[in-house]
Amino acid sequence: MRALPLSILAALLAVAPAHAEDSPSGQAEAAEAPPSLVVMVSVDQFSADLFAQYRRRFTGGLARLQEGVVFPSGYQAHAATETCPGHATLLTGARPARSGIVANNWFAPGLARADKRIYCAEDERDPASTSSRPVVSARQLKVPTLGERLKQANPLSRTIAVSAKDRAAVMMGGRIIDEGWWWQGGAFATFAGRGTPRSVAEANRAAAATVAKGAAALPMPKWCAARDRAIAVGKRAVGSGRFALPKGQPDLLRTSPRMDAATVDLALGLAREFELGRDAAPDVLAIGLSATDYIGHVFGTEGLEMCIQMAELDRSVGRLLAGLDALKVDYAVVLSADHGGLDTPERLDIQAYPRAARANPALTPEALAAEVTARTGIAAPGSGPMLYGEGPAGDLYVTDALPSQAKARVVAALVEILGEHPQVAAVFTARQLAEMPMPTGSPQDWSLRDRARASFDPFRSGDLTVLLDRAVVPIVDPDRGAIATHGSAWDYDRRVPILFWRRGMAGFEQPAPVETVDIAPTLARLLRLDVPDGAFDGRCLDLDPGEGNTCAR
Ligand code: ZN
Repeated sequence: MRALPLSILAALLAVAPAHAEDSPSGQAEAAEAPPSLVVMVSVDQFSADLFAQYRRRFTGGLARLQEGVVFPSGYQAHAATETCPGHATLLTGARPARSGIVANNWFAPGLARADKRIYCAEDERDPASTSSRPVVSARQLKVPTLGERLKQANPLSRTIAVSAKDRAAVMMGGRIIDEGWWWQGGAFATFAGRGTPRSVAEANRAAAATVAKGAAALPMPKWCAARDRAIAVGKRAVGSGRFALPKGQPDLLRTSPRMDAATVDLALGLAREFELGRDAAPDVLAIGLSATDYIGHVFGTEGLEMCIQMAELDRSVGRLLAGLDALKVDYAVVLSADHGGLDTPERLDIQAYPRAARANPALTPEALAAEVTARTGIAAPGSGPMLYGEGPAGDLYVTDALPSQAKARVVAALVEILGEHPQVAAVFTARQLAEMPMPTGSPQDWSLRDRARASFDPFRSGDLTVLLDRAVVPIVDPDRGAIATHGSAWDYDRRVPILFWRRGMAGFEQPAPVETVDIAPTLARLLRLDVPDGAFDGRCLDLDPGEGNTCAR
């Protein structure tokens, strides 16, 4: 409980959002009052394709959300369809080119650390931080989140963000955040130096008990039976798993629907403990449900595992909504995703999509560097590599140990080598992308160069951006970890559903493409939040199915 100091109360009244007198018709005033709590749910790797495939099966929370306003074709319009850039669009309304979150990891060849790699959610200035064991921070995010804008208008507004992934929580919460929690080494953790609220301690006790006891396989809905078919991927078989949890394996809990259930429990516990939505200052609760992504990477998207996950996700979202109902506050929910995904190529190959393939090892930074040396005679001076990059796609950085003329020759050689490769759809130099304007118009019609431009930052992006051909999966060896992924510039990774729901809202469906950067401006209008013109890359979506317009002032 908090007491309101008079000075804060006065400030609150001075900036209090305008109410119904602003509505053009003066009608439907109750429905137009701002919600007192905004709940952003991000389902990691929830592609528009998965939504289309399973939406008629949903009977829980995802069924309720489908009674609201449904945009089945929301675009994460940029090329770098990864978790950090995608989460950063959701509550900032900014594409990666503006948010600065151009990838999960980028490289700074001038950085002192040996791997030259910066994690999107780290404070790389902290000597304790490394790219693989980061000191978690939102400092890389160059734009404010909705929660930060609310706080600026009203310091009593609170933002709480939880997820299995630190980058999901941090990119939705922002720099100024009341509570931010993520799963780390078998428990929910937060920023250094912060205390542990009662609800987090409870969630961690519950998770520890589940890990210690283990759990039986999850039930298989009847409609999943057709998906129950094992296929060989490398040395593994996937496609018929049911998430039995052996004792003492927190990582297996993470890669299962139980991770989402634990995240929902934590979110509800924090919402109750901090009394979100109770006072005049609207609050933000951001929830990243990561299990769909972990399951997609480990098992692919078209097996029994994902089918069970869709049923369990529906159940977890249902429990979340029931818990929010019990708060007895006027809340608005948005559910979307950070990116889509694609199935493992081995199953695509036998299920009528034989063009799917794994990326050729010749496209890894190491192999490309060797080919550059063979063609030009230029080698990296010293012990470091010539090229830095995450793998056979995305950004490539040339070492800054080379003089600029040699570096230019390396870039030219790479353009030639990559341009000749049958698995490469396009390669762009930093100069090519820097020269072009930000794309406009419908994201489904954008060229590959437009898509790459939307995730280009001249200070963080590579000397080259490499886009692989459709259905070329950038995992060379499935025995070394994930078997399937996302991250491409193609629509299976760019298209995600966007669902808005609020009690009493009249629903409708709009199949035309919209963007995830439209979410923040839409919520800002619902909240009567004044945001300067041009602050968002997206636009307000009118959530009124009739003559009314929730975007009108
Ligand atoms: Zn993701």
